[in-house]
Amino acid sequence: MFHVLKTMPAPASLDNKVSYSGMDVIERLASDFHNKCYICEIKDPISLNVEHFEPHKGIDDEKKYDWSNLFFACARCNNIKRSKFDDILNCTSTDIDVLMAVKHEFPVTAHARKVNITAMLDDEKTKMTASLIDEVFNSESTGNKKLSRTYLLKRLMKQYRKFLELLFEYEDDDTIEEERIIIEKKIKNMLKVEYEFSAFLRWAIINSPELHHFREGLF
Ligand SMILES: [Zn+2]
Repeated sequence: MFHVLKTMPAPASLDNKVSYSGMDVIERLASDFHNKCYICEIKDPISLNVEHFEPHKGIDDEKKYDWSNLFFACARCNNIKRSKFDDILNCTSTDIDVLMAVKHEFPVTAHARKVNITAMLDDEKTKMTASLIDEVFNSESTGNKKLSRTYLLKRLMKQYRKFLELLFEYEDDDTIEEERIIIEKKIKNMLKVEYEFSAFLRWAIINSPELHHFREGLF
């Protein structure tokens, strides 16, 4: 998960309390969330939902049109979260470091398929957040989920491969200093919060103390 700064004031169309998915809301969410689903971190999701972080249950107009309650989620994650996960960490809050709260680890190989998601704190919100992300990346309970999971893992492994290639190249004896400067910039670019699957990429660095110099100025 990544921290999101919701910009103010709220989009104007919310004032009328008629629609929570006006173009100004969608555009602002896309920009504040860097075009990423806040749960799986896929970039430019094919199908987007304006998610109510706390459910409005059809009756609570305050929650329904409250800008602070509207989140950018892909339809797949929104669907998985909907019924069961109603008390998760709020990535727009400055009180909690959502990156450090839930460890994300890439599969060992593309065929291993199992993604390890671990709650790093003992409270219920953190544990529920880790369970949700675990289900998003690992559940194949329906045919449709299995298919969409394959797509999600392919995207994840593609970014991981790119990242590993850069790390190998950086450390290769044949790499000259000028190249190394460029490669370092590319690695740091992949570690930005705007980047797809940033929590996985950042945890790959956190888990490797010899690579901690790449964190400098970033996280
Ligand atoms: Zn998602």
